[in-house]
Amino acid sequence: MRAFVLKEPGVVGYVDVPEPRLTPYGAILRPVAVAPCSSDVHTVFGGGSRKAPNLVLGHECVAEVLEVGELVEEFRPGEIVAVPAITPNWRDRGIQEHNFKHASAPFSGHQLGRSQPGVFAEKFLIPDADTTLAKIPASLSLEQALMCVDVVTTGFTGAENANIKFGDTVVVMGIGPIGLMAVAGAAHLGAARILAVGSRPVCVECAYDFGASEVLSYKNGDLVQQVMERTDGLGADSVIICGGNDETFAQAIDMVRYGIGTVSNVNYFGGTGNLPFPKFSGGRGMAGKTIHTELAEGGRVRIERMLSMVKYGRIHPERLVTHHLTGLDKIEEALYLMKEKPADLIKVMVTI
Ligand SMILES: [Zn+2]
Repeated sequence: MRAFVLKEPGVVGYVDVPEPRLTPYGAILRPVAVAPCSSDVHTVFGGGSRKAPNLVLGHECVAEVLEVGELVEEFRPGEIVAVPAITPNWRDRGIQEHNFKHASAPFSGHQLGRSQPGVFAEKFLIPDADTTLAKIPASLSLEQALMCVDVVTTGFTGAENANIKFGDTVVVMGIGPIGLMAVAGAAHLGAARILAVGSRPVCVECAYDFGASEVLSYKNGDLVQQVMERTDGLGADSVIICGGNDETFAQAIDMVRYGIGTVSNVNYFGGTGNLPFPKFSGGRGMAGKTIHTELAEGGRVRIERMLSMVKYGRIHPERLVTHHLTGLDKIEEALYLMKEKPADLIKVMVTI
Protein backbone atom coordinates (compact mmCIF):
# COMPACT_ATOMS: atom_id res chain seq x y z
CA MET A 1 0.00 0.00 0.00
CA ARG A 2 1.04 3.58 -0.55
CA ALA A 3 2.32 5.69 2.33
CA PHE A 4 3.98 9.04 2.93
CA VAL A 5 7.20 8.37 4.81
CA LEU A 6 10.34 9.80 6.29
CA LYS A 7 13.03 8.23 4.09
CA GLU A 8 15.94 9.73 6.00
CA PRO A 9 16.38 12.92 8.07
CA GLY A 10 15.06 15.82 5.98
CA VAL A 11 13.85 13.61 3.11
CA VAL A 12 10.19 12.58 2.66
CA GLY A 13 8.31 10.82 -0.13
CA TYR A 14 5.76 8.22 -1.15
CA VAL A 15 6.72 4.55 -1.06
CA ASP A 16 5.02 1.16 -0.96
CA VAL A 17 4.97 -0.34 2.52
CA PRO A 18 3.49 -3.62 3.85
CA GLU A 19 -0.16 -3.49 4.94
CA PRO A 20 -0.75 -3.49 8.70
CA ARG A 21 -1.68 -6.82 10.29
CA LEU A 22 -4.75 -7.00 12.51
CA THR A 23 -4.24 -7.81 16.20
CA PRO A 24 -6.89 -9.22 18.61
CA TYR A 25 -7.58 -5.88 20.34
CA GLY A 26 -6.72 -3.81 17.28
CA ALA A 27 -8.44 -2.10 14.38
CA ILE A 28 -7.35 -1.41 10.82
CA LEU A 29 -8.44 2.02 9.69
CA ARG A 30 -8.57 4.11 6.53
CA PRO A 31 -7.81 7.83 6.92
CA VAL A 32 -10.73 10.08 5.94
CA ALA A 33 -9.10 13.41 6.84
CA VAL A 34 -5.60 14.10 8.11
CA ALA A 35 -3.55 17.12 9.12
CA PRO A 36 0.22 17.42 9.11
CA CYS A 37 1.44 19.47 12.05
CA SER A 38 4.51 21.19 13.37
CA SER A 39 5.53 17.95 15.13
CA ASP A 40 5.71 16.24 11.73
CA VAL A 41 7.87 19.12 10.53
CA HIS A 42 10.12 18.60 13.59
CA THR A 43 10.26 14.83 12.98
CA VAL A 44 11.35 15.39 9.38
CA PHE A 45 13.55 18.45 9.58
CA GLY A 46 14.32 18.90 13.26
CA GLY A 47 16.61 16.00 14.01
CA GLY A 48 15.65 14.36 17.30
CA SER A 49 15.78 10.63 18.02
CA ARG A 50 16.72 8.15 15.30
CA LYS A 51 13.66 6.86 13.42
CA ALA A 52 13.06 3.56 11.61
CA PRO A 53 13.76 3.71 7.85
CA ASN A 54 10.68 4.60 5.79
CA LEU A 55 8.72 5.53 8.92
CA VAL A 56 5.11 6.32 7.96
CA LEU A 57 4.45 9.86 9.22
CA GLY A 58 1.34 11.48 10.65
CA HIS A 59 -0.68 11.45 13.88
CA GLU A 60 -3.70 13.73 13.28
CA CYS A 61 -6.53 11.78 11.74
CA VAL A 62 -10.23 11.07 11.47
CA ALA A 63 -10.66 7.60 10.02
CA GLU A 64 -13.07 4.88 8.95
CA VAL A 65 -12.85 1.54 10.75
CA LEU A 66 -12.25 -1.18 8.14
CA GLU A 67 -11.70 -4.25 10.31
CA VAL A 68 -11.64 -5.01 14.03
CA GLY A 69 -9.89 -7.76 15.99
CA GLU A 70 -11.84 -10.54 17.64
CA LEU A 71 -11.63 -8.96 21.12
CA VAL A 72 -12.80 -5.46 20.12
CA GLU A 73 -16.20 -4.73 21.68
CA GLU A 74 -17.19 -1.15 20.95
CA PHE A 75 -16.26 -0.39 17.34
CA ARG A 76 -17.48 -1.91 14.10
CA PRO A 77 -16.40 -1.63 10.45
CA GLY A 78 -17.84 1.44 8.74
CA GLU A 79 -17.69 3.74 11.80
CA ILE A 80 -15.96 7.11 11.41
CA VAL A 81 -13.82 7.77 14.49
CA ALA A 82 -11.34 10.30 15.84
CA VAL A 83 -7.83 8.91 16.35
CA PRO A 84 -5.93 10.52 19.24
CA ALA A 85 -2.43 11.77 18.43
CA ILE A 86 -1.22 10.44 21.78
CA THR A 87 -2.09 6.78 22.21
CA PRO A 88 -0.91 5.44 25.59
CA ASN A 89 -0.64 1.67 25.85
CA TRP A 90 -3.08 1.15 28.71
CA ARG A 91 -1.74 -2.36 29.30
CA ASP A 92 1.70 -1.00 30.10
CA ARG A 93 2.48 -1.60 33.80
CA GLY A 94 3.74 2.00 34.19
CA ILE A 95 0.12 3.13 33.75
CA GLN A 96 -0.51 1.84 37.30
CA GLU A 97 1.85 4.59 38.47
CA HIS A 98 -0.30 7.11 36.56
CA ASN A 99 2.54 7.56 34.10
CA PHE A 100 0.34 7.80 31.03
CA LYS A 101 2.76 9.26 28.52
CA HIS A 102 6.16 7.84 29.46
CA ALA A 103 5.08 4.53 31.02
CA SER A 104 7.72 2.14 29.73
CA ALA A 105 10.09 4.57 28.03
CA PRO A 106 10.29 8.31 27.34
CA PHE A 107 7.38 9.25 25.06
CA SER A 108 5.98 5.70 24.98
CA GLY A 109 2.52 7.30 24.69
CA HIS A 110 3.51 9.11 21.52
CA GLN A 111 3.51 6.20 19.10
CA LEU A 112 1.83 7.18 15.82
CA GLY A 113 4.38 8.36 13.27
CA ARG A 114 7.13 7.86 15.80
CA SER A 115 7.54 4.34 17.26
CA GLN A 116 4.73 2.84 15.17
CA PRO A 117 3.63 3.59 11.59
CA GLY A 118 1.58 6.79 11.39
CA VAL A 119 -1.66 7.70 9.65
CA PHE A 120 -0.37 9.09 6.33
CA ALA A 121 -1.05 5.83 4.48
CA GLU A 122 -3.88 4.00 2.78
CA LYS A 123 -4.38 2.02 6.01
CA PHE A 124 -3.00 1.96 9.53
CA LEU A 125 -3.32 -0.11 12.70
CA ILE A 126 -4.44 1.02 16.14
CA PRO A 127 -3.33 -1.82 18.46
CA ASP A 128 -6.02 -1.29 21.14
CA ALA A 129 -9.20 0.07 19.57
CA ASP A 130 -11.53 0.17 22.60
CA THR A 131 -9.21 2.28 24.75
CA THR A 132 -7.90 4.48 21.95
CA LEU A 133 -10.48 5.38 19.30
CA ALA A 134 -12.94 8.16 20.10
CA LYS A 135 -16.63 8.21 19.11
CA ILE A 136 -17.53 11.41 17.22
CA PRO A 137 -20.87 13.07 18.07
CA ALA A 138 -23.11 13.08 14.97
CA SER A 139 -23.36 16.88 14.79
CA LEU A 140 -19.62 17.48 14.37
CA SER A 141 -17.88 18.29 11.09
CA LEU A 142 -14.69 16.57 9.94
CA GLU A 143 -12.74 19.77 10.64
CA GLN A 144 -14.02 19.94 14.21
CA ALA A 145 -13.24 16.31 14.97
CA LEU A 146 -9.82 16.50 13.35
CA MET A 147 -8.76 19.52 15.40
CA CYS A 148 -9.63 17.70 18.65
CA VAL A 149 -7.16 14.81 18.24
CA ASP A 150 -4.06 16.95 18.82
CA VAL A 151 -4.48 20.72 18.59
CA VAL A 152 -7.32 21.13 21.10
CA THR A 153 -6.04 18.58 23.60
CA THR A 154 -2.48 19.98 23.46
CA GLY A 155 -3.54 23.61 23.90
CA PHE A 156 -5.85 22.59 26.76
CA THR A 157 -3.04 20.56 28.36
CA GLY A 158 -0.94 23.73 28.41
CA ALA A 159 -3.77 25.61 30.13
CA GLU A 160 -4.58 22.80 32.60
CA ASN A 161 -1.01 22.66 33.88
CA ALA A 162 -0.77 26.43 34.36
CA ASN A 163 -2.61 26.49 37.74
CA ILE A 164 -5.14 29.01 36.46
CA LYS A 165 -7.56 30.45 39.00
CA PHE A 166 -10.54 32.77 38.48
CA GLY A 167 -9.29 36.28 37.94
CA ASP A 168 -5.76 35.37 36.87
CA THR A 169 -3.63 37.13 34.30
CA VAL A 170 -2.29 34.56 31.85
CA VAL A 171 0.28 35.04 29.10
CA VAL A 172 0.16 32.66 26.11
CA MET A 173 3.45 32.70 24.19
CA GLY A 174 2.82 31.76 20.58
CA ILE A 175 -0.56 31.83 18.84
CA GLY A 176 -0.25 29.10 16.26
CA PRO A 177 -2.99 26.45 16.44
CA ILE A 178 -1.83 25.11 19.85
CA GLY A 179 -1.48 28.58 21.38
CA LEU A 180 -4.91 29.58 20.13
CA MET A 181 -6.42 26.56 21.89
CA ALA A 182 -4.41 27.42 25.01
CA VAL A 183 -6.06 30.86 24.90
CA ALA A 184 -9.49 29.19 24.68
CA GLY A 185 -8.53 26.77 27.48
CA ALA A 186 -7.27 29.55 29.76
CA ALA A 187 -10.50 31.49 29.20
CA HIS A 188 -12.57 28.44 30.17
CA LEU A 189 -10.47 27.80 33.28
CA GLY A 190 -11.16 31.28 34.64
CA ALA A 191 -8.42 33.61 33.45
CA ALA A 192 -9.66 37.17 33.64
CA ARG A 193 -7.01 38.63 31.42
CA ILE A 194 -5.20 36.81 28.64
CA LEU A 195 -2.18 38.41 27.03
CA ALA A 196 -1.44 36.47 23.85
CA VAL A 197 1.92 36.87 22.13
CA GLY A 198 2.11 36.71 18.35
CA SER A 199 1.96 38.81 15.23
CA ARG A 200 0.58 36.93 12.21
CA PRO A 201 -2.69 38.79 11.42
CA VAL A 202 -4.75 35.63 10.77
CA CYS A 203 -3.75 34.31 14.22
CA VAL A 204 -4.19 37.64 15.99
CA GLU A 205 -7.79 37.86 14.81
CA CYS A 206 -8.44 34.30 15.98
CA ALA A 207 -6.78 34.96 19.37
CA TYR A 208 -9.27 37.75 20.10
CA ASP A 209 -12.16 35.51 19.06
CA PHE A 210 -10.98 32.74 21.38
CA GLY A 211 -10.65 35.01 24.42
CA ALA A 212 -7.45 37.09 24.31
CA SER A 213 -7.76 40.48 26.03
CA GLU A 214 -4.73 41.87 24.27
CA VAL A 215 -2.21 40.62 21.71
CA LEU A 216 1.42 41.58 22.24
CA SER A 217 4.16 41.43 19.63
CA TYR A 218 7.93 41.36 19.98
CA LYS A 219 7.86 43.97 17.21
CA ASN A 220 6.66 46.49 19.82
CA GLY A 221 9.64 46.01 22.12
CA ASP A 222 10.88 43.64 24.78
CA LEU A 223 8.11 41.16 25.68
CA VAL A 224 9.06 40.85 29.34
CA GLN A 225 8.90 44.61 29.71
CA GLN A 226 5.52 44.73 27.96
CA VAL A 227 4.08 42.16 30.39
CA MET A 228 5.65 43.82 33.47
CA GLU A 229 4.26 47.23 32.47
CA ARG A 230 0.77 45.74 32.18
CA THR A 231 0.91 43.95 35.55
CA ASP A 232 2.23 46.74 37.81
CA GLY A 233 5.67 45.16 37.75
CA LEU A 234 4.43 41.91 39.33
CA GLY A 235 4.32 39.69 36.26
CA ALA A 236 1.69 37.21 35.12
CA ASP A 237 0.10 34.55 37.31
CA SER A 238 0.74 31.98 34.60
CA VAL A 239 2.66 31.78 31.35
CA ILE A 240 1.83 29.05 28.82
CA ILE A 241 4.57 28.43 26.25
CA CYS A 242 3.14 27.21 22.93
CA GLY A 243 5.83 28.38 20.55
CA GLY A 244 9.12 30.19 20.30
CA ASN A 245 12.71 29.27 20.98
CA ASP A 246 15.12 28.86 23.90
CA GLU A 247 14.90 32.56 24.69
CA THR A 248 11.11 32.24 25.05
CA PHE A 249 11.67 29.83 27.96
CA ALA A 250 13.83 32.37 29.78
CA GLN A 251 11.33 35.16 29.05
CA ALA A 252 8.51 33.07 30.53
CA ILE A 253 10.44 32.69 33.80
CA ASP A 254 11.23 36.41 33.73
CA MET A 255 7.59 37.45 33.36
CA VAL A 256 5.87 35.07 35.78
CA ARG A 257 5.11 36.09 39.37
CA TYR A 258 7.38 35.30 42.29
CA GLY A 259 5.98 32.86 44.85
CA ILE A 260 2.85 31.74 43.02
CA GLY A 261 3.57 31.91 39.30
CA THR A 262 3.52 28.90 36.99
CA VAL A 263 5.21 28.40 33.63
CA SER A 264 3.48 25.64 31.67
CA ASN A 265 5.26 24.39 28.58
CA VAL A 266 3.88 22.36 25.67
CA ASN A 267 6.38 23.71 23.14
CA TYR A 268 9.02 21.63 21.36
CA PHE A 269 12.56 22.93 21.86
CA GLY A 270 14.70 21.61 19.02
CA GLY A 271 18.42 20.96 19.04
CA THR A 272 20.68 19.89 21.86
CA GLY A 273 22.21 21.63 24.87
CA ASN A 274 20.36 23.35 27.72
CA LEU A 275 17.45 25.72 28.08
CA PRO A 276 18.42 29.00 29.75
CA PHE A 277 17.29 29.52 33.34
CA PRO A 278 17.62 33.21 34.24
CA LYS A 279 19.31 33.34 37.63
CA PHE A 280 18.03 36.77 38.63
CA SER A 281 14.30 36.41 37.86
CA GLY A 282 14.60 32.80 38.99
CA GLY A 283 15.48 34.16 42.43
CA ARG A 284 18.85 32.44 42.14
CA GLY A 285 16.94 29.19 42.48
CA MET A 286 14.56 30.40 45.22
CA ALA A 287 11.85 32.39 43.39
CA GLY A 288 9.00 29.97 44.13
CA LYS A 289 8.11 29.77 40.47
CA THR A 290 6.77 26.47 39.18
CA ILE A 291 7.82 25.10 35.81
CA HIS A 292 5.66 22.33 34.36
CA THR A 293 6.61 20.58 31.09
CA GLU A 294 4.13 18.25 29.45
CA LEU A 295 3.14 16.19 26.44
CA ALA A 296 -0.51 16.42 25.38
CA GLU A 297 -3.16 14.28 27.04
CA GLY A 298 -4.37 11.47 24.78
CA GLY A 299 -6.44 8.31 24.72
CA ARG A 300 -10.11 7.74 24.09
CA VAL A 301 -11.81 9.40 27.07
CA ARG A 302 -9.72 12.54 26.76
CA ILE A 303 -10.53 13.02 23.09
CA GLU A 304 -14.21 12.26 23.64
CA ARG A 305 -14.17 15.03 26.27
CA MET A 306 -12.64 17.45 23.75
CA LEU A 307 -15.28 16.44 21.19
CA SER A 308 -17.93 17.17 23.83
CA MET A 309 -16.57 20.70 24.24
CA VAL A 310 -17.23 21.21 20.53
CA LYS A 311 -20.62 19.49 20.53
CA TYR A 312 -21.95 21.82 23.23
CA GLY A 313 -20.56 24.94 21.59
CA ARG A 314 -17.80 25.77 24.10
CA ILE A 315 -15.08 25.88 21.45
CA HIS A 316 -15.00 26.37 17.70
CA PRO A 317 -11.75 24.74 16.56
CA GLU A 318 -12.94 24.46 12.94
CA ARG A 319 -11.86 28.09 12.61
CA LEU A 320 -8.27 26.89 12.69
CA VAL A 321 -8.61 25.04 9.38
CA THR A 322 -7.72 27.70 6.84
CA HIS A 323 -6.58 25.43 4.01
CA HIS A 324 -8.12 22.34 2.38
CA LEU A 325 -6.47 19.86 0.04
CA THR A 326 -7.73 16.53 -1.32
CA GLY A 327 -5.95 13.22 -1.87
CA LEU A 328 -3.19 11.17 -0.24
CA ASP A 329 -0.74 12.63 -2.75
CA LYS A 330 -1.36 16.14 -1.36
CA ILE A 331 0.10 15.35 2.07
CA GLU A 332 3.57 16.39 0.96
CA GLU A 333 2.26 19.79 -0.17
CA ALA A 334 0.39 20.11 3.14
CA LEU A 335 3.54 19.30 5.14
CA TYR A 336 5.45 22.02 3.31
CA LEU A 337 2.60 24.47 3.97
CA MET A 338 3.01 23.77 7.71
CA LYS A 339 6.77 24.24 7.37
CA GLU A 340 6.66 27.47 5.39
CA LYS A 341 3.53 28.96 6.99
CA PRO A 342 2.09 31.29 4.34
CA ALA A 343 0.51 34.42 5.83
CA ASP A 344 -3.08 33.16 5.71
CA LEU A 345 -2.41 29.67 7.14
CA ILE A 346 -3.23 28.27 10.55
CA LYS A 347 -3.94 24.59 9.81
CA VAL A 348 -4.35 22.58 6.62
CA MET A 349 -6.71 19.60 6.36
CA VAL A 350 -6.21 16.94 3.70
CA THR A 351 -9.32 14.96 2.82
CA ILE A 352 -8.29 11.51 1.62
ZN1 LIG B 1 0.17 17.17 15.71
